[in-house]
Amino acid sequence: MKFLAIAPLLFTGLLLAQPPAKPELGFTDTPILPGLPWHVHDPNRPHPPVVTPGPFFVEAPPADAIVLFDGHDLSHWQLAKSSQSNDGKPTGPPAWKVQDGYMEVVPGKGEIGTKEKFGDIQLHLEWQSPTPPTGDSQGRGNSGVFLMGLYEIQVLDSYNNPTYADGQAGAVYGQWPPLANPIRPVGQWNSYDIYFEAPHLEGDKVIKPAAVTVVFNGVLVQDHQQIMGPTKHRELTHYIAQPAEDSLVLQNHGNAVRYRNIWVRRLSLPGK
Ligand code: MG
Repeated sequence: MKFLAIAPLLFTGLLLAQPPAKPELGFTDTPILPGLPWHVHDPNRPHPPVVTPGPFFVEAPPADAIVLFDGHDLSHWQLAKSSQSNDGKPTGPPAWKVQDGYMEVVPGKGEIGTKEKFGDIQLHLEWQSPTPPTGDSQGRGNSGVFLMGLYEIQVLDSYNNPTYADGQAGAVYGQWPPLANPIRPVGQWNSYDIYFEAPHLEGDKVIKPAAVTVVFNGVLVQDHQQIMGPTKHRELTHYIAQPAEDSLVLQNHGNAVRYRNIWVRRLSLPGK
């Protein structure tokens, strides 16, 4: 009897701890995702549980890593294709701020991509949301890690910031919410360890879709998740012909997100 009396309170408590996004924090006029009961950016799609991560510790790069940013300069980076003029020529060098061991998005200065191109990779990076937090939903600390310049692992200040589930930090944006929300409060660093298997395509024909595993502050949030296609906003996606390797791109969504300690290892996966 006692349990029955307490259970609704516990359930209510859980709901309060992880409120669903308000209807205005998502879309129901978008297409239904293939094989799922949810719209793209559906405000009613369940949100993952909040998990408090353990203390932060810096993982130094292993010997075979390519260090893409060691805190000093943007020598491995250039303006990304997404920020180039229509003729495809770069419009200038990367103009993100570098200071005190981190790089910071400068609103209006474009997105940056690696000069080197990658396919299958292990990637480590650390990021921090702007302090103090401003805006809400997708307007708070929005950036993103675009694998091959096409597939976004969302970066967002998801600390007490409701938004649609497939748009919160650690999501494969517009496709797969993270399995948990282990973000740290603003002012603290977060880490992503991303294991990415590039798609096997013949032209735009999919032989094998891309897959990604993401560990966010030591917590698994994507488990060898198949990616539906290049990231889209409010739309369904499908694969398009693309090079076997391409730049890693960091998104400029107009919020001064910081990054540091970025390194990558090329992977030699079986069957490739
Ligand atoms: Mg983003």
